[in-house]
Amino acid sequence: MNWESVIGLEIHVQLATNSKIFSGASTSYGAEPNAQACAVDLGLPGVLPVLNERAIEMAIKFGLAIGAKINLHSVFDRKNYFYPDLPKGYQISQFETPIVGEGSIVIALEDGQERTVGITRAHLEEDAGKSIHDLFPGQTGIDLNRTGTPLLEIVSEPDIRTSKEASAYFRQMHTLVRYLQICDGNLAQGSMRCDANVSVRPYGQEEFGERTEIKNINSFRFVERAIDYEIGRQIDVLESGGIIERETRLFDPDRDETRSMRSKEFSEDYRYFPDPDLLPLTFSQALVDKIALTLPELPDAKRARYIEEFGLSEYDARSLSADLDRSDYFEAVVNTCNNSKQATNWIMGDLSAYLNRNNLEISASPVSAQQLAVLISRLDDQTLSSKTAKALFDGLWNKADSEQSVDDLISEMNLAQVSDDGELTGIVEQLIADNPGQFEELRNGKDKMLGFFVGQVMKMTQGKANPQQVNEIIRAKL
Ligand code: ADP
Ligand code: MG
Repeated sequence: MNWESVIGLEIHVQLATNSKIFSGASTSYGAEPNAQACAVDLGLPGVLPVLNERAIEMAIKFGLAIGAKINLHSVFDRKNYFYPDLPKGYQISQFETPIVGEGSIVIALEDGQERTVGITRAHLEEDAGKSIHDLFPGQTGIDLNRTGTPLLEIVSEPDIRTSKEASAYFRQMHTLVRYLQICDGNLAQGSMRCDANVSVRPYGQEEFGERTEIKNINSFRFVERAIDYEIGRQIDVLESGGIIERETRLFDPDRDETRSMRSKEFSEDYRYFPDPDLLPLTFSQALVDKIALTLPELPDAKRARYIEEFGLSEYDARSLSADLDRSDYFEAVVNTCNNSKQATNWIMGDLSAYLNRNNLEISASPVSAQQLAVLISRLDDQTLSSKTAKALFDGLWNKADSEQSVDDLISEMNLAQVSDDGELTGIVEQLIADNPGQFEELRNGKDKMLGFFVGQVMKMTQGKANPQQVNEIIRAKL
Protein backbone atom coordinates (compact mmCIF):
# COMPACT_ATOMS: atom_id res chain seq x y z
CA MET A 1 0.00 0.00 0.00
CA ASN A 2 1.08 3.60 -0.60
CA TRP A 3 1.07 5.79 2.47
CA GLU A 4 0.91 9.55 2.84
CA SER A 5 2.19 11.28 5.96
CA VAL A 6 0.43 14.17 7.68
CA ILE A 7 2.39 16.49 9.95
CA GLY A 8 1.61 19.46 12.19
CA LEU A 9 4.27 21.32 14.18
CA GLU A 10 4.06 23.15 17.48
CA ILE A 11 7.02 25.53 17.73
CA HIS A 12 8.03 27.13 21.02
CA VAL A 13 9.78 30.44 20.57
CA GLN A 14 11.52 32.05 23.55
CA LEU A 15 10.73 35.72 23.34
CA ALA A 16 13.72 38.06 23.61
CA THR A 17 12.52 40.06 26.60
CA ASN A 18 14.96 41.17 29.31
CA SER A 19 12.80 39.89 32.12
CA LYS A 20 10.35 37.02 32.57
CA ILE A 21 6.76 36.98 31.47
CA PHE A 22 5.28 37.39 34.96
CA SER A 23 8.23 38.57 37.08
CA GLY A 24 11.19 40.95 36.99
CA ALA A 25 13.81 38.17 37.09
CA SER A 26 16.38 38.21 34.29
CA THR A 27 16.04 35.88 31.29
CA SER A 28 19.72 35.92 30.29
CA TYR A 29 21.28 32.59 29.43
CA GLY A 30 24.08 30.83 31.25
CA ALA A 31 23.75 32.06 34.86
CA GLU A 32 24.54 29.77 37.80
CA PRO A 33 21.72 27.24 38.27
CA ASN A 34 18.77 28.71 40.18
CA ALA A 35 20.34 32.16 40.42
CA GLN A 36 17.61 33.69 38.28
CA ALA A 37 14.40 32.27 39.69
CA CYS A 38 12.55 34.69 41.96
CA ALA A 39 9.64 34.07 44.35
CA VAL A 40 7.08 34.50 41.56
CA ASP A 41 8.86 31.98 39.32
CA LEU A 42 9.11 29.54 42.20
CA GLY A 43 5.42 29.90 42.96
CA LEU A 44 5.94 30.75 46.62
CA PRO A 45 2.72 31.49 48.51
CA GLY A 46 1.45 35.04 48.49
CA VAL A 47 3.08 36.27 45.30
CA LEU A 48 1.22 37.57 42.25
CA PRO A 49 2.18 37.50 38.57
CA VAL A 50 2.49 40.79 36.66
CA LEU A 51 2.35 40.54 32.86
CA ASN A 52 5.35 41.76 30.83
CA GLU A 53 4.15 44.27 28.23
CA ARG A 54 7.07 43.58 25.87
CA ALA A 55 5.95 39.95 25.50
CA ILE A 56 2.51 41.13 24.36
CA GLU A 57 4.03 43.48 21.80
CA MET A 58 6.22 40.71 20.41
CA ALA A 59 3.27 38.33 20.09
CA ILE A 60 1.28 41.00 18.25
CA LYS A 61 4.23 41.69 15.95
CA PHE A 62 4.41 38.01 15.08
CA GLY A 63 0.66 37.81 14.46
CA LEU A 64 0.80 40.76 12.07
CA ALA A 65 3.73 39.23 10.19
CA ILE A 66 1.77 36.05 9.43
CA GLY A 67 -1.38 37.96 8.51
CA ALA A 68 -3.24 36.58 11.50
CA LYS A 69 -6.23 37.85 13.37
CA ILE A 70 -5.05 39.57 16.58
CA ASN A 71 -7.44 38.94 19.42
CA LEU A 72 -7.99 42.15 21.38
CA HIS A 73 -9.30 40.03 24.21
CA SER A 74 -7.53 36.88 25.37
CA VAL A 75 -7.29 34.86 28.56
CA PHE A 76 -4.49 33.29 30.60
CA ASP A 77 -5.29 29.82 31.88
CA ARG A 78 -3.67 27.45 34.30
CA LYS A 79 -2.56 24.16 32.78
CA ASN A 80 -2.21 21.83 35.74
CA TYR A 81 0.31 19.01 35.90
CA PHE A 82 2.93 17.62 38.25
CA TYR A 83 6.53 17.65 37.24
CA PRO A 84 9.71 18.31 39.25
CA ASP A 85 10.68 21.29 37.10
CA LEU A 86 7.31 22.98 37.63
CA PRO A 87 7.19 23.95 41.32
CA LYS A 88 3.87 25.83 41.05
CA GLY A 89 2.11 22.67 39.89
CA TYR A 90 0.68 24.57 36.92
CA GLN A 91 1.91 26.42 33.87
CA ILE A 92 0.29 29.71 32.92
CA SER A 93 -0.72 29.42 29.26
CA GLN A 94 -3.55 30.39 26.95
CA PHE A 95 -6.08 27.73 26.07
CA GLU A 96 -9.40 28.67 24.49
CA THR A 97 -8.64 32.28 23.62
CA PRO A 98 -5.07 32.84 22.42
CA ILE A 99 -3.65 36.28 21.59
CA VAL A 100 -2.99 35.33 17.93
CA GLY A 101 -5.60 33.59 15.79
CA GLU A 102 -5.43 32.02 12.32
CA GLY A 103 -2.70 33.02 9.89
CA SER A 104 -0.36 31.42 7.35
CA ILE A 105 3.20 31.31 6.13
CA VAL A 106 4.71 30.47 2.73
CA ILE A 107 7.58 28.01 2.61
CA ALA A 108 9.92 27.23 -0.29
CA LEU A 109 10.96 23.67 -1.05
CA GLU A 110 14.29 22.57 -2.47
CA ASP A 111 12.91 22.32 -6.01
CA GLY A 112 11.85 25.99 -5.79
CA GLN A 113 8.16 25.17 -5.32
CA GLU A 114 6.23 27.12 -2.72
CA ARG A 115 3.59 25.89 -0.28
CA THR A 116 1.37 27.70 2.15
CA VAL A 117 1.12 26.28 5.66
CA GLY A 118 -1.81 27.37 7.77
CA ILE A 119 -1.20 28.50 11.33
CA THR A 120 -3.98 27.65 13.72
CA ARG A 121 -2.98 29.97 16.54
CA ALA A 122 -0.10 31.36 18.57
CA HIS A 123 -0.39 31.80 22.31
CA LEU A 124 1.70 33.20 25.15
CA GLU A 125 2.86 30.98 27.99
CA GLU A 126 5.62 30.62 30.53
CA ASP A 127 8.48 28.14 30.16
CA ALA A 128 9.14 25.46 32.78
CA GLY A 129 12.49 24.75 34.44
CA LYS A 130 15.01 22.16 33.31
CA SER A 131 15.70 18.71 34.72
CA ILE A 132 19.36 17.77 34.44
CA HIS A 133 19.88 14.01 34.36
CA ASP A 134 23.52 13.72 33.42
CA LEU A 135 25.35 15.76 36.04
CA PHE A 136 24.88 13.86 39.32
CA PRO A 137 25.03 10.06 39.20
CA GLY A 138 21.77 8.55 40.42
CA GLN A 139 20.20 11.95 40.95
CA THR A 140 18.41 14.58 38.91
CA GLY A 141 19.24 18.26 39.21
CA ILE A 142 16.61 20.96 38.81
CA ASP A 143 17.55 24.32 37.33
CA LEU A 144 14.70 26.82 37.52
CA ASN A 145 16.44 29.70 35.75
CA ARG A 146 14.32 29.12 32.65
CA THR A 147 11.09 29.03 34.66
CA GLY A 148 8.85 31.90 33.60
CA THR A 149 10.73 32.76 30.40
CA PRO A 150 8.11 34.01 27.93
CA LEU A 151 7.25 31.59 25.14
CA LEU A 152 5.17 32.04 22.05
CA GLU A 153 3.77 28.66 21.04
CA ILE A 154 2.97 28.59 17.34
CA VAL A 155 0.63 25.78 16.30
CA SER A 156 0.44 24.82 12.63
CA GLU A 157 -2.46 23.21 10.82
CA PRO A 158 -1.83 19.58 9.78
CA ASP A 159 -0.88 20.95 6.33
CA ILE A 160 2.64 19.55 6.14
CA ARG A 161 3.13 16.36 4.09
CA THR A 162 6.83 15.45 4.20
CA SER A 163 9.75 15.70 6.62
CA LYS A 164 11.47 18.07 4.17
CA GLU A 165 8.47 20.39 4.26
CA ALA A 166 8.54 20.24 8.05
CA SER A 167 12.16 21.35 8.26
CA ALA A 168 11.56 24.04 5.62
CA TYR A 169 8.67 25.31 7.76
CA PHE A 170 10.81 25.27 10.92
CA ARG A 171 13.59 27.16 9.08
CA GLN A 172 11.18 29.71 7.66
CA MET A 173 9.79 30.33 11.13
CA HIS A 174 13.35 30.77 12.40
CA THR A 175 14.06 33.33 9.68
CA LEU A 176 10.87 35.19 10.50
CA VAL A 177 11.31 35.49 14.28
CA ARG A 178 14.89 36.67 13.76
CA TYR A 179 13.72 39.31 11.27
CA LEU A 180 11.11 40.46 13.78
CA GLN A 181 13.80 40.43 16.49
CA ILE A 182 11.45 38.72 18.89
CA CYS A 183 13.76 35.72 19.48
CA ASP A 184 17.53 35.27 19.33
CA GLY A 185 16.99 32.08 17.31
CA ASN A 186 19.70 30.15 19.17
CA LEU A 187 18.61 26.55 18.72
CA ALA A 188 21.56 25.10 20.64
CA GLN A 189 20.51 27.06 23.73
CA GLY A 190 16.90 25.98 23.34
CA SER A 191 15.54 29.35 22.18
CA MET A 192 13.42 27.54 19.58
CA ARG A 193 12.12 24.00 20.01
CA CYS A 194 9.46 22.08 18.22
CA ASP A 195 7.06 19.21 18.79
CA ALA A 196 6.17 17.23 15.66
CA ASN A 197 2.75 15.59 15.35
CA VAL A 198 2.90 12.77 12.83
CA SER A 199 0.34 10.40 11.33
CA VAL A 200 0.04 8.35 8.15
CA ARG A 201 -2.93 7.41 5.96
CA PRO A 202 -3.38 5.41 2.77
CA TYR A 203 -3.07 7.64 -0.31
CA GLY A 204 -6.42 9.00 -1.33
CA GLN A 205 -8.02 8.56 2.08
CA GLU A 206 -9.46 11.81 3.36
CA GLU A 207 -9.62 11.00 7.03
CA PHE A 208 -6.46 11.50 9.09
CA GLY A 209 -4.84 8.57 10.86
CA GLU A 210 -4.11 8.47 14.60
CA ARG A 211 -1.04 10.55 15.45
CA THR A 212 1.90 10.55 17.79
CA GLU A 213 3.74 13.60 19.06
CA ILE A 214 7.55 13.80 19.13
CA LYS A 215 8.62 16.25 21.82
CA ASN A 216 11.33 18.87 22.07
CA ILE A 217 13.27 18.72 18.82
CA ASN A 218 15.90 21.46 18.67
CA SER A 219 17.54 21.26 15.26
CA PHE A 220 16.45 21.50 11.64
CA ARG A 221 18.17 18.22 10.82
CA PHE A 222 16.66 16.36 13.76
CA VAL A 223 13.13 17.38 12.72
CA GLU A 224 13.66 15.63 9.43
CA ARG A 225 15.28 12.54 10.91
CA ALA A 226 12.76 12.17 13.74
CA ILE A 227 9.80 12.47 11.37
CA ASP A 228 11.31 10.09 8.80
CA TYR A 229 11.88 7.48 11.49
CA GLU A 230 8.39 7.95 12.90
CA ILE A 231 6.70 7.66 9.49
CA GLY A 232 8.57 4.41 8.84
CA ARG A 233 7.69 3.04 12.26
CA GLN A 234 3.99 3.84 11.89
CA ILE A 235 3.82 2.24 8.44
CA ASP A 236 5.51 -0.90 9.82
CA VAL A 237 3.03 -1.10 12.69
CA LEU A 238 0.01 -0.64 10.39
CA GLU A 239 1.25 -3.03 7.71
CA SER A 240 1.80 -5.75 10.27
CA GLY A 241 -1.79 -5.36 11.44
CA GLY A 242 -1.16 -3.20 14.53
CA ILE A 243 -2.72 0.11 15.49
CA ILE A 244 -1.10 3.45 16.29
CA GLU A 245 -1.54 4.56 19.88
CA ARG A 246 -1.92 8.24 20.65
CA GLU A 247 1.28 8.89 22.59
CA THR A 248 4.16 11.23 23.24
CA ARG A 249 7.56 10.09 21.98
CA LEU A 250 11.13 11.30 22.33
CA PHE A 251 13.71 11.45 19.55
CA ASP A 252 17.11 9.96 20.32
CA PRO A 253 19.56 11.49 17.81
CA ASP A 254 22.34 9.05 18.77
CA ARG A 255 20.27 6.03 17.81
CA ASP A 256 18.21 7.85 15.19
CA GLU A 257 14.90 6.59 16.56
CA THR A 258 11.88 7.75 18.53
CA ARG A 259 10.89 6.08 21.79
CA SER A 260 7.63 6.10 23.66
CA MET A 261 7.67 8.50 26.63
CA ARG A 262 4.10 8.44 27.90
CA SER A 263 0.63 7.87 26.59
CA LYS A 264 -0.80 11.12 25.31
CA GLU A 265 -2.68 13.23 27.80
CA PHE A 266 -5.83 14.90 26.54
CA SER A 267 -6.74 18.45 27.35
CA GLU A 268 -9.20 17.22 30.03
CA ASP A 269 -6.19 15.86 31.91
CA TYR A 270 -4.86 19.34 32.42
CA ARG A 271 -7.94 20.76 34.15
CA TYR A 272 -7.52 24.11 32.43
CA PHE A 273 -9.19 27.08 34.08
CA PRO A 274 -8.70 30.87 33.81
CA ASP A 275 -5.92 32.02 36.13
CA PRO A 276 -7.67 33.92 38.94
CA ASP A 277 -4.51 35.97 39.58
CA LEU A 278 -4.53 37.50 36.10
CA LEU A 279 -7.15 39.68 34.46
CA PRO A 280 -8.16 38.85 30.91
CA LEU A 281 -5.72 40.51 28.51
CA THR A 282 -7.33 43.35 26.58
CA PHE A 283 -5.81 46.05 24.43
CA SER A 284 -6.98 48.43 21.73
CA GLN A 285 -6.76 48.21 17.95
CA ALA A 286 -4.72 51.43 18.21
CA LEU A 287 -1.93 49.48 19.92
CA VAL A 288 -2.00 46.89 17.14
CA ASP A 289 -1.87 49.66 14.51
CA LYS A 290 1.07 51.26 16.27
CA ILE A 291 2.99 47.99 16.32
CA ALA A 292 2.17 47.42 12.63
CA LEU A 293 4.19 50.57 11.87
CA THR A 294 7.27 48.99 13.45
CA LEU A 295 7.23 45.85 11.27
CA PRO A 296 10.51 45.51 9.38
CA GLU A 297 10.82 44.42 5.75
CA LEU A 298 9.87 40.73 5.85
CA PRO A 299 11.86 37.90 4.22
CA ASP A 300 9.62 37.52 1.15
CA ALA A 301 9.69 41.24 0.43
CA LYS A 302 13.44 41.39 0.86
CA ARG A 303 13.95 38.45 -1.50
CA ALA A 304 11.79 40.11 -4.16
CA ARG A 305 13.72 43.36 -3.73
CA TYR A 306 17.09 41.59 -4.17
CA ILE A 307 15.88 40.16 -7.48
CA GLU A 308 14.44 43.47 -8.64
CA GLU A 309 17.05 45.91 -7.33
CA PHE A 310 20.25 43.90 -7.62
CA GLY A 311 19.35 41.46 -10.41
CA LEU A 312 20.04 38.40 -8.26
CA SER A 313 18.82 34.95 -9.21
CA GLU A 314 15.92 33.50 -7.22
CA TYR A 315 18.32 31.06 -5.56
CA ASP A 316 20.89 33.70 -4.54
CA ALA A 317 18.18 36.10 -3.36
CA ARG A 318 16.60 33.42 -1.19
CA SER A 319 19.90 32.35 0.26
CA LEU A 320 21.10 35.87 1.05
CA SER A 321 17.78 36.92 2.61
CA ALA A 322 17.27 33.76 4.68
CA ASP A 323 19.19 35.11 7.62
CA LEU A 324 19.08 38.66 8.93
CA ASP A 325 22.80 38.86 9.73
CA ARG A 326 23.63 37.57 6.26
CA SER A 327 21.36 40.04 4.49
CA ASP A 328 22.69 42.92 6.63
CA TYR A 329 26.23 41.91 5.69
CA PHE A 330 25.33 41.63 2.01
CA GLU A 331 23.71 45.06 1.95
CA ALA A 332 26.64 46.63 3.79
CA VAL A 333 29.03 45.25 1.16
CA VAL A 334 26.87 46.34 -1.79
CA ASN A 335 26.30 49.80 -0.37
CA THR A 336 30.04 50.41 -0.24
CA CYS A 337 31.28 48.71 -3.43
CA ASN A 338 28.19 49.01 -5.62
CA ASN A 339 28.85 45.66 -7.25
CA SER A 340 26.05 43.29 -6.28
CA LYS A 341 27.28 40.51 -8.55
CA GLN A 342 30.72 40.37 -6.94
CA ALA A 343 29.23 40.84 -3.46
CA THR A 344 26.95 37.85 -4.09
CA ASN A 345 29.77 35.72 -5.47
CA TRP A 346 32.13 36.45 -2.59
CA ILE A 347 29.54 35.95 0.15
CA MET A 348 28.05 32.79 -1.39
CA GLY A 349 31.51 31.52 -2.37
CA ASP A 350 34.73 32.19 -0.46
CA LEU A 351 33.21 33.78 2.63
CA SER A 352 30.66 30.95 3.13
CA ALA A 353 33.34 28.34 2.57
CA TYR A 354 35.67 29.93 5.15
CA LEU A 355 32.81 30.35 7.63
CA ASN A 356 31.68 26.75 7.23
CA ARG A 357 35.17 25.40 7.55
CA ASN A 358 35.65 27.29 10.80
CA ASN A 359 32.11 26.70 12.04
CA LEU A 360 31.46 30.44 12.37
CA GLU A 361 28.32 32.54 11.94
CA ILE A 362 28.57 35.48 9.56
CA SER A 363 28.17 37.87 12.51
CA ALA A 364 31.53 36.56 13.77
CA SER A 365 33.27 36.79 10.39
CA PRO A 366 36.90 37.90 10.77
CA VAL A 367 36.53 39.72 7.43
CA SER A 368 34.19 42.66 7.91
CA ALA A 369 31.66 43.77 5.29
CA GLN A 370 33.64 46.98 4.92
CA GLN A 371 36.84 45.07 4.16
CA LEU A 372 35.17 42.77 1.64
CA ALA A 373 33.68 45.83 -0.08
CA VAL A 374 37.12 47.42 -0.46
CA LEU A 375 38.52 44.14 -1.76
CA ILE A 376 35.81 44.08 -4.44
CA SER A 377 36.51 47.71 -5.33
CA ARG A 378 40.20 46.86 -5.83
CA LEU A 379 39.16 44.05 -8.16
CA ASP A 380 36.98 46.51 -10.05
CA ASP A 381 39.76 49.07 -10.47
CA GLN A 382 42.14 46.25 -11.45
CA THR A 383 44.53 46.72 -8.54
CA LEU A 384 43.84 43.04 -7.85
CA SER A 385 43.47 40.06 -10.14
CA SER A 386 41.06 37.29 -9.23
CA LYS A 387 44.06 35.34 -8.01
CA THR A 388 45.58 38.03 -5.80
CA ALA A 389 42.09 38.88 -4.52
CA LYS A 390 41.84 35.36 -3.15
CA ALA A 391 45.25 35.69 -1.52
CA LEU A 392 44.16 39.00 0.00
CA PHE A 393 40.95 37.46 1.34
CA ASP A 394 42.97 34.73 2.97
CA GLY A 395 45.27 37.37 4.46
CA LEU A 396 42.32 39.35 5.79
CA TRP A 397 40.86 36.20 7.31
CA ASN A 398 44.05 34.87 8.88
CA LYS A 399 46.27 37.75 9.81
CA ALA A 400 44.21 40.90 10.01
CA ASP A 401 41.67 42.28 12.45
CA SER A 402 38.52 44.01 11.29
CA GLU A 403 40.20 47.42 11.69
CA GLN A 404 43.03 46.56 9.28
CA SER A 405 43.14 48.82 6.23
CA VAL A 406 42.71 46.69 3.12
CA ASP A 407 44.94 48.92 1.01
CA ASP A 408 47.73 48.69 3.58
CA LEU A 409 47.47 44.91 3.54
CA ILE A 410 47.62 44.89 -0.28
CA SER A 411 50.99 46.71 -0.13
CA GLU A 412 52.17 44.68 2.85
CA MET A 413 51.44 41.42 1.01
CA ASN A 414 52.74 42.94 -2.20
CA LEU A 415 49.59 41.97 -4.10
CA ALA A 416 48.90 44.96 -6.32
CA GLN A 417 48.93 44.23 -10.03
CA VAL A 418 51.90 45.59 -11.91
CA SER A 419 50.26 48.00 -14.29
CA ASP A 420 53.21 50.29 -14.82
CA ASP A 421 53.51 50.35 -18.62
CA GLY A 422 57.23 51.01 -18.54
CA GLU A 423 57.98 48.13 -16.19
CA LEU A 424 55.86 45.69 -18.17
CA THR A 425 57.31 46.86 -21.50
CA GLY A 426 60.80 46.26 -20.10
CA ILE A 427 59.89 42.71 -19.14
CA VAL A 428 58.33 42.02 -22.55
CA GLU A 429 61.37 43.35 -24.39
CA GLN A 430 63.68 41.20 -22.31
CA LEU A 431 61.54 38.13 -23.09
CA ILE A 432 61.57 38.85 -26.82
CA ALA A 433 65.34 39.19 -26.74
CA ASP A 434 65.67 35.90 -24.85
CA ASN A 435 63.23 34.01 -27.11
CA PRO A 436 63.73 35.27 -30.66
CA GLY A 437 62.55 32.01 -32.26
CA GLN A 438 59.23 32.03 -30.44
CA PHE A 439 58.70 35.68 -31.25
CA GLU A 440 59.33 34.98 -34.93
CA GLU A 441 56.69 32.21 -34.86
CA LEU A 442 54.21 34.61 -33.30
CA ARG A 443 54.97 37.19 -35.95
CA ASN A 444 54.32 34.55 -38.61
CA GLY A 445 50.80 34.07 -37.29
CA LYS A 446 51.21 31.29 -34.68
CA ASP A 447 48.78 32.84 -32.21
CA LYS A 448 49.42 30.15 -29.61
CA MET A 449 52.76 31.82 -28.91
CA LEU A 450 50.92 34.82 -27.47
CA GLY A 451 49.90 32.59 -24.58
CA PHE A 452 53.52 31.61 -24.06
CA PHE A 453 54.67 35.22 -23.73
CA VAL A 454 51.76 36.29 -21.49
CA GLY A 455 52.39 33.24 -19.34
CA GLN A 456 56.08 34.12 -18.97
CA VAL A 457 55.24 37.68 -17.93
CA MET A 458 52.74 36.39 -15.35
CA LYS A 459 55.39 34.05 -14.02
CA MET A 460 57.99 36.79 -13.76
CA THR A 461 55.54 39.07 -11.91
CA GLN A 462 54.17 36.32 -9.63
CA GLY A 463 50.78 36.65 -11.33
CA LYS A 464 50.52 40.37 -10.64
CA ALA A 465 50.65 41.68 -14.20
CA ASN A 466 47.42 42.76 -15.81
CA PRO A 467 47.10 40.12 -18.57
CA GLN A 468 45.12 42.38 -20.87
CA GLN A 469 47.75 45.07 -20.65
CA VAL A 470 50.51 42.53 -21.33
CA ASN A 471 48.60 41.39 -24.42
CA GLU A 472 48.45 44.90 -25.71
CA ILE A 473 52.15 45.53 -25.17
CA ILE A 474 53.12 42.34 -27.05
CA ARG A 475 50.77 43.13 -29.92
CA ALA A 476 52.32 46.58 -30.17
CA LYS A 477 55.75 44.92 -30.49
CA LEU A 478 54.47 42.90 -33.44
P1 ADP B 1 -3.53 18.79 21.17
O1 ADP B 1 -4.73 19.36 21.81
O2 ADP B 1 -3.33 17.39 21.45
O3 ADP B 1 -2.29 19.62 21.36
P2 ADP B 1 -4.17 19.93 18.63
O4 ADP B 1 -5.45 19.70 17.96
O5 ADP B 1 -3.93 21.24 19.29
O6 ADP B 1 -3.87 18.77 19.63
O7 ADP B 1 -3.05 19.72 17.56
C1 ADP B 1 -1.74 19.74 17.89
C2 ADP B 1 -0.94 19.64 16.60
O8 ADP B 1 -1.17 18.38 15.97
C3 ADP B 1 -1.27 20.68 15.56
O9 ADP B 1 -0.07 21.20 15.01
C4 ADP B 1 -2.05 19.92 14.50
O10 ADP B 1 -1.83 20.44 13.20
C5 ADP B 1 -1.45 18.54 14.60
N1 ADP B 1 -2.34 17.45 14.18
C6 ADP B 1 -3.64 17.30 14.47
N2 ADP B 1 -4.12 16.16 13.96
C7 ADP B 1 -3.09 15.56 13.32
C8 ADP B 1 -2.93 14.33 12.60
N3 ADP B 1 -3.92 13.46 12.45
N4 ADP B 1 -1.72 14.05 12.09
C9 ADP B 1 -0.69 14.89 12.26
N5 ADP B 1 -0.77 16.04 12.92
C10 ADP B 1 -1.95 16.37 13.45
MG1 MG C 1 -0.65 20.96 21.96
